[in-house]
Amino acid sequence: MGKVKALVLFSGGLDSILTCKILEEQKIEVVPVFFKSYFFGPEIAQKSAKENGLNLRIEDISKGHLEIVKKPKFGWGVSMNPCLDCHILMLKKAKEIMEKEKFDFVATGEVLGERPFSQTRGALNIVERESSLKGYLLRPLSAKLLEPTIPEKKGLVKREKLFDIQGRSRKKQIELAKKFKIKWYPQPSGGCILTDLEFGKKLRDLLEKYPGFNGNDVETLKLGRHFWEGNVKIIIGRNYEENLKLETLKRNGDLIIKMKNYPGPTALIRSYQAKIPNEILEKAKELILKYSKKARDKIDVKFSIKNG
Ligand code: SF4
Repeated sequence: MGKVKALVLFSGGLDSILTCKILEEQKIEVVPVFFKSYFFGPEIAQKSAKENGLNLRIEDISKGHLEIVKKPKFGWGVSMNPCLDCHILMLKKAKEIMEKEKFDFVATGEVLGERPFSQTRGALNIVERESSLKGYLLRPLSAKLLEPTIPEKKGLVKREKLFDIQGRSRKKQIELAKKFKIKWYPQPSGGCILTDLEFGKKLRDLLEKYPGFNGNDVETLKLGRHFWEGNVKIIIGRNYEENLKLETLKRNGDLIIKMKNYPGPTALIRSYQAKIPNEILEKAKELILKYSKKARDKIDVKFSIKNG
């Protein structure tokens, strides 16, 4: 029999590191995979994988993820985070890889009851069913509290060496981190901008006004101060880096306005309807002056306007 192969969904957090280590302890070949999107990048997972001797694979799910963010079957969480749909999408992708590349099963670091919305017993069952991974989805940290999976039944994974962790306490995971000599792992925290309430509000506004928005629009939401004027948006950079980034995001139909003779913010104007009216240009100039200490009271300010 060849070596047993597991594809592990890897966020970089302690639960996902432990999942890899528990399986490696059973001499299973582990491939950790990080699914990146417009809303979460791989930086923490890359650091975590490197620190823990894991060879991380990165897959881009941005386009499919954007669609479920706009219209999640199971709804959003506290902000615009469609966690159940997001898990399902990742597991569907994992299933595709599993079948194509002949992995024996998919594993995750999910812990029963650790998260109120996405890790209840009902939620775990839903993602397993909706991703069509039934029987092939192993959660080593809580496995003993769940039905045995096919790899366990076939003896590819020793069930007795899996765990029965549940709830929000991290005590057991911290003990396991010591056992496996895991020296570095990130503190549990976001990493996904969709859980940020401020960002969620901007995203919801955009979804209401222009449901056809794309990845470039999402990138603009991560920058600057946003002002809607009807269906036109003015974005004002908050610092030098944001000013530069706004220019790189300019696309056909956008306008970039900045001061020629004073330092200060750059404005990106984007219309989600028709041509940008002149009064919006004046509004953008007012906002630039408002956020420029040096030019605020000057009467000789000159502006440059660039088309996208
Ligand atoms: S927090 Fe973000 S990355 Fe995590 S499951 Fe929810 S939507 Fe997906």
